[in-house]
Amino acid sequence: MEKHYDIVVVGSGIAGLFFARKAAGLLPRGRVAVITKKDETESNTNYAQGGIATVMSGVDSFDLHVSDTLKAGAGLCHRKVVEDIILHGPKVIEKLVEIGVKFTRSKGGTYDLGREGGHSINRVVHASDLTGREIERALLESCRQRPNIDFYRETIALDLITYQHKNINCCGGVYTFTPRGRVFRSFYAPVIMLATGGIGQVYFHTTNPDIATGDGIAMAFRAGARVANMEFIQFHPTTLYDPGRRPFLISEAVRGEGGILIDSAGRPFMKEYHAQKDLAPRDIVARAIDSELKQSGAPSVFLDVSHLDKVFIKKRFPNIYKECKKRGIDITRQPIPVVPSAHYNCGGVVADLQGRTDISGLYVCGEAACTGMHGANRLASNSLLEAVVMADFASDDSLAFRQTNNFPDTPPAGEWLHSSLGGNREKIVVTHDIEVLKKTMSDFVGIVRSLDRLQMAGERLRIIQKAAEHYYLTQPASYPIIELRNMSLVAGLIVRAATRRKESRGLHYLLDHPETDDRWLHNTVIRPHNYLPRKNNLLRRKDGHSL
Ligand SMILES: Cc1cc2nc3c(=O)[nH]c(=O)nc-3n(C[C@H](O)[C@H](O)[C@H](O)COP(=O)(O)OP(=O)(O)OC[C@H]3O[C@@H](n4cnc5c(N)ncnc54)[C@H](O)[C@@H]3O)c2cc1C
Repeated sequence: MEKHYDIVVVGSGIAGLFFARKAAGLLPRGRVAVITKKDETESNTNYAQGGIATVMSGVDSFDLHVSDTLKAGAGLCHRKVVEDIILHGPKVIEKLVEIGVKFTRSKGGTYDLGREGGHSINRVVHASDLTGREIERALLESCRQRPNIDFYRETIALDLITYQHKNINCCGGVYTFTPRGRVFRSFYAPVIMLATGGIGQVYFHTTNPDIATGDGIAMAFRAGARVANMEFIQFHPTTLYDPGRRPFLISEAVRGEGGILIDSAGRPFMKEYHAQKDLAPRDIVARAIDSELKQSGAPSVFLDVSHLDKVFIKKRFPNIYKECKKRGIDITRQPIPVVPSAHYNCGGVVADLQGRTDISGLYVCGEAACTGMHGANRLASNSLLEAVVMADFASDDSLAFRQTNNFPDTPPAGEWLHSSLGGNREKIVVTHDIEVLKKTMSDFVGIVRSLDRLQMAGERLRIIQKAAEHYYLTQPASYPIIELRNMSLVAGLIVRAATRRKESRGLHYLLDHPETDDRWLHNTVIRPHNYLPRKNNLLRRKDGHSL
């Protein structure tokens, strides 16, 4: 089945929705499709608590925000990108307010600005401690009011449709699968926006929801786009330790408001690791907790706010208070058990600030992109900012691109004969491989790495990747198979990048090379033709659609 649109957006988080809404407004006679793999709201965005970092108060300055960002990025931020994004911050906050986002305000009507680790001043605009949910609500409502946006929910993008034009690699569409009714569709459009978010699900412990399997990065890489800086995975220091239950993040804003990390004996330990103590950047805090846990053998450390005013806690962190209470912890009286878990990917598909990639017509924005904003470590609450600013810039750029180029209605790509795929293997085989992949990543490619462990991880992942490609080619399509295929590729990219960088910098800590070495003061860029195993390049579905 074929669908033709002016613009196709994959993903309905902050990046995808902001982009779709603006593009649909700029192109009132055009049609925009938003493809999203689960319910429209299910995204990393929906779970963001802390807020959006931006310069809003008279005592703050753009220079200060830039300098905090560069400091966290440990030498790898792209200064111009950082400056442009930060300068545009207040404008996108106003746009979000116009769209209907209700940020928390103080009594005087000004924004209530939170403080988070690594920021030298209060500058985080938030909607109580449910900022992401409020943004998602307002953006979705606004998109639904646009008659020229069609939503395709519970629909997963599988691969990009690419073709060569005058020796240029072009993208003209995306193949999708909807499990209900087992519908396969090819969406064609001159502009494809990948806003598919993060990769947290390649780890065993993660703050990310199920959708975060790195699909966009895998699709773009398979289609020929470069990816960069995949070794820089941010581990959130404080996820609620509640084994066997859905992960729940304890926002960094809790430390910003005076929360203190203690061990099981009540000893505050952050002063032994960094001058900023509990307000140190999150990679330092995550490593400190990792080290405390390794030394003590305890399953968790604790975050204590019981010394703060009870009324303030309930008002500032109503969601955290309620969720912990539901799980048997009264945070106004008891310390919260916490552990670090995979949270944010600073790397991604190489893109400029307009979201342009190596492939003509293919745009990427938000967490799936690597622009140079975060360098080797993201400053807290800078990711929503980057996602929304990029979406704003990319909508202008992609419309101009569309208007100045002629495109074939249906690009000359081979027909996709999915229905010929047969066979039916027991599901346990795929489930098992997913579990092994996640455990491998958590145990061997976590907060502290070694070349030995990276090599072991690489060997295991190569086997899983090969198996995943085989399932994908021979079994009926299913979410677990499609996601395993993407996760094994993305996990392999993380290992490859981490093995290449023979130093410790930002979020990448390598026991064999614990020092920062300025010979590595550059991005780790992986080009598809250097990496994909030769055999994979030869694999084709029965229709000749190249993988
Ligand atoms: C618990 C938590 C708290 C956070 N707190 C903050 C914070 O306070 N401040 C901050 O700046 N950042 C925070 N972050 C990070 C931030 O939320 C994300 O980086 C940001 O929301 C990413 O937005 P996005 O639009 O790029 O991706 P997402 O919001 O993750 O959206 C991705 C979308 O793509 C869809 N998708 C993925 N693959 C496919 C596919 N193959 N086919 C179809 N659809 C697909 C998903 O279903 C989803 O709709 C937090 C993250 C988490 C997990």
